[in-house]
Amino acid sequence: MKIICIGRNYVEHAQELQNAVPEEPVVFLKPDTALLKNGEKFWIPPFSNDIHYECELVLKIARQGKFIQPKFAHTYIDSVSLGIDFTARDLQNELKKKGLPWEKAKAFNNSAFCSDIFIPFENFRDIQDVHFTLKINGEVRQMGHTKNMIFSIDTIIEHISQYFVIKTGDLIFTGTPSGVGKVNPGDKLEGFIEHQKMFEVIIAG
Ligand code: MG
Repeated sequence: MKIICIGRNYVEHAQELQNAVPEEPVVFLKPDTALLKNGEKFWIPPFSNDIHYECELVLKIARQGKFIQPKFAHTYIDSVSLGIDFTARDLQNELKKKGLPWEKAKAFNNSAFCSDIFIPFENFRDIQDVHFTLKINGEVRQMGHTKNMIFSIDTIIEHISQYFVIKTGDLIFTGTPSGVGKVNPGDKLEGFIEHQKMFEVIIAG
């Protein structure tokens, strides 16, 4: 399986990092070795002093497809979860400055945390009207509402599938709302979709 991520999909998050609001989806990949599952700690890697959390709604793909039309996009979604796109922000800023690819800052081991709770897609009345929340040490740090996505989930799937065949079990991280920040050893991150608790992950290091 592969992990496909969308960057800068919420206006306020693009602005908080002084990035332009994109005109088409910003896409990057993480390998399967980036996946960190529920119940495992996140260890701060030695090459960064500024690991950021980015809480994101995650889609699990139901079946193989390419060149998918937006009106059929929802038929490719199996279920919905919540995860963290861990980012070495110091390294990413260096790479961006040099015009180099982001992989070392975005796709390192365990950088894609995902809950093992997957909510069936058909349980959602409107996928563009879903709220999600990230708490750190009990304090709300990020509040997302999928209504505020720059590119809707249908558009994301259409766009991605022009370049990459999506396959059963692939995960799509759909972008983070504003409020990103640094994690520190001992932090407890808790994620919620609406009022359902989806995960808890501890930062080690
Ligand atoms: Mg992200």
